[in-house]
Amino acid sequence: MAMLEATGLSAGYGPISVLENLEIHVDEGEIVVVLGANGAGKTTTLRALSGLIGSKGRVRFGGADISRSKPDARAKLGLGHIPEGRGTFPFLSVEDNLRIGGHLLKGRRERHAFETWFELFPILAERRKQAAGSLSGGEQQMLAVARALMNRPRMLLLDEPSMGLAPMVTASLFQKIEAINKQFGTSMLIVEQNANLSLKIANRGYVLESGRVVLHGKAADLLDDDGIRRAYLGS
Ligand code: ATP
Repeated sequence: MAMLEATGLSAGYGPISVLENLEIHVDEGEIVVVLGANGAGKTTTLRALSGLIGSKGRVRFGGADISRSKPDARAKLGLGHIPEGRGTFPFLSVEDNLRIGGHLLKGRRERHAFETWFELFPILAERRKQAAGSLSGGEQQMLAVARALMNRPRMLLLDEPSMGLAPMVTASLFQKIEAINKQFGTSMLIVEQNANLSLKIANRGYVLESGRVVLHGKAADLLDDDGIRRAYLGS
């Protein structure tokens, strides 16, 4: 069953139209990657799906029509969004950033969420009192993921999690993302420039060009596709 399904999705900024009639879906428990060159509309797609910008067309999430829902209503239904640039608060501690992510939780449920995500991200437990801004890039991205997970979303939208990270750090981040998907069944839609590493953990992928889907298929097939290899894998 589709966890998230966008049909005829069009969006832009004022008079500028960016997305044209996008058809995109993520099945329950899937990891799906959206690839595309700079400016193809990847970030805009995630913004339209989480309701941060207005859109035309239909978006269904967990069977409900959320096309006209505000971002907070979509979040409450279990749609988490980790924006470009991570969106963590640099002057607040790791712990306080997580507390903000889990603001709907109280008492025992909050403690349980802390335990769960500290177990998965031991480095965050070690640095719990440290300001988020003093963490390395990879640690900050892990904090952004853990923060979004505090409310146990059914699905996460991740905007270029590998941005600015060294390949080894990206690989370990993607391992965590895969582990979360396996352990908790969290569906994931990941916008990425790093096609190689992201497709390796994904079930399927879409390629966007000028706001349109030009190719989609199984991740393994996309990894083998000559055009994709030339454009995104450097070979
Ligand atoms: P990148 O990989 O560079 O982040 P992207 O595929 O995520 O690219 P978008 O950020 O979605 O692309 O941008 C798509 C188009 O929309 C671009 O032409 C961009 O200039 C334009 N755009 C993005 N944000 C805005 C905005 N806030 N106002 C006006 N135009 C915007």
